[in-house]
Amino acid sequence: MTKEELNPFAIAQAQLDAVAGIMNLDPAIHQFLREPMRELHVSLPVKMDDGSTRVFKGFRVQYNDSRGPTKGGIRFAPDETIDTVRALAAWMTWKTAVADIPLGGGKGGIVCNPREMSLGELERLSRAYIRQVGRIIGLEMDVPAPDVNTNPQIMAWMVDEYAFLKGYNEFGVITGKPLPLGGSAGRTDATGRGVAITTGLAMKELGMDPKKSTLAVQGFGNVGSYAALILVNEYGLKLVGVSDETGAWHNPKGFDPAKLMAYTKDHKGLLEGYEKTDSNARKISNDELLTLDVDVLAPCAIENQLTERNADAIKAKVIAEGANGPTTPAADRVFYNKGIYVIPDFLCNAGGVIVSYFEMVQNAYDYYWDLDTVKQRLGLKMTSAFYAVHERAQEMGIDNRMGAYVVSVGRVAEAMRLRGWV
Ligand code: NAD
Repeated sequence: MTKEELNPFAIAQAQLDAVAGIMNLDPAIHQFLREPMRELHVSLPVKMDDGSTRVFKGFRVQYNDSRGPTKGGIRFAPDETIDTVRALAAWMTWKTAVADIPLGGGKGGIVCNPREMSLGELERLSRAYIRQVGRIIGLEMDVPAPDVNTNPQIMAWMVDEYAFLKGYNEFGVITGKPLPLGGSAGRTDATGRGVAITTGLAMKELGMDPKKSTLAVQGFGNVGSYAALILVNEYGLKLVGVSDETGAWHNPKGFDPAKLMAYTKDHKGLLEGYEKTDSNARKISNDELLTLDVDVLAPCAIENQLTERNADAIKAKVIAEGANGPTTPAADRVFYNKGIYVIPDFLCNAGGVIVSYFEMVQNAYDYYWDLDTVKQRLGLKMTSAFYAVHERAQEMGIDNRMGAYVVSVGRVAEAMRLRGWV
C-alpha cells in the first residue's frame, strides 16, 4: 500500500472523484469540491507547568459552507496533520448534507499529546487556539465541537475564551458544551446512538435478529462505548469483542458495556489490564479483533483500520463505521464484492452533528428540550438519512458509501448552483 493510499485526504478526494463519475457531476463543481474553501494554520505559544513555553501547531479548515455555517470537531492528536483535518472537514460537508441539516463542513486540530499534559496546560492550549481561530469562527460562520481527545470541559474553556473576545456570551458558537453552559441533553451519547440506530436499521433490512447477533467494537472511547452500550441494552446484541489503543479483548459469553465503561472511568479512560478483573475475557490482538466471527463489526477508533491487508479476512455481515475513514477504498471494493453491508462513516456517525445542530437550535432560542425529545428527533433524522442512502444505493446498484456520496454531493451541488457559484 502506498503512502498516498493511506493519506486520508487523498482517500476523500478519490471517493469524490468516483462519485463525480457516477453522477456526471459538473466539472467546475467537482473541482471546487476537491479542495477546502478556506483554511487557517496557527502557531500557539503555551506556558507549560515547568515554566517553559512550547509552541503548538493548529489548524481550522472550512471545507464548504454552501448549505450553512461550517461545522466540525476539534481534535487533539500527536500525529494530527493538515491532510487529516482536510479529509475530516470534507467528510463533515457530506455528513451535514446526508443528515439534511442546514450546515456545511469544517474541522480543526492541534498537534499535541493531551495524555502528557496537565489540566492547566490543556486549558491554556484550548484558550490559545480560540484566540487564533476566534477570528474565523462564529454562530453564522463556523461552529466547532469536541472530537478525538477533546471533551465538554475543553469546549467550556473555548466558549469562555470566545466570550472574552466578543465581550458577551455566544453559547451557540461551540457545541458539545456541558449542560450548565448551554449544552444539549443527549449530546454525549449521540454519535454512539446514531451508530446503534443505523446498525439496527441495516440489520432489519438484512433480516437479521439483533437478539441472536454478536458485535465487536474497535475503540472503546466516546463513540464505541455508547454504541456498544445501546446496541447491547436497547437492541439485544451480544458484545464479544472490544479494543482500545492498549489492546483488544474477547469474551464469547459477552461483555457488559456498563462494566467496561466503569472500568475505563477508573483507569484513565482505557481498558488496559481489564482481563485481570474478568475471568471470561482473553486478551487478543487488534487484527484478531477485526476478524472475529461476529455479525456486526463497529470500527470506532481511527482511520485506515480496514485495508486490503485484512479485508478478505473480515467475517462480519454489517460494518458500522463509527469512526471517520476506517475503511480504505481497496477494502471497500472487497466488502462490496463479498456482500458485506457497510454503513458508511458520514452516515453512521452523523448522530453527533445532528444533536450538535439541535444544541445550536436550543441555544438560539434559549429554550432546552428534554432527553426524550432529543432522542426522538435524532431517531427521525437518522432514519430518514439511512433510507435516503439505502434506497439510492439499491436503485443505482452501487455500494452504500457511493450512495451516501450521491445523496450528499447532490445536495451540496444544488446549493452551490442555487447560489450562482457555478
Ligand atoms: P475517543 O478518543 O473518545 O475514543 C477513541 C478510542 O479509540 C479510544 O478508546 C482509543 O484508545 C481507541 N484507539 C485509538 N487508537 C486505536 C487503535 N489503533 N486500535 C484500537 N483502538 C484505538 O474518540 P471518539 O470521540 O470516540 O472518536 C472515535 C472516532 O469517531 C474518530 O474517528 C472520530 O473522528 C469519530 N467521530 C466522533 C464523534 C464524536 O461525537 N465524538 C462524532 C463523529 C465521528
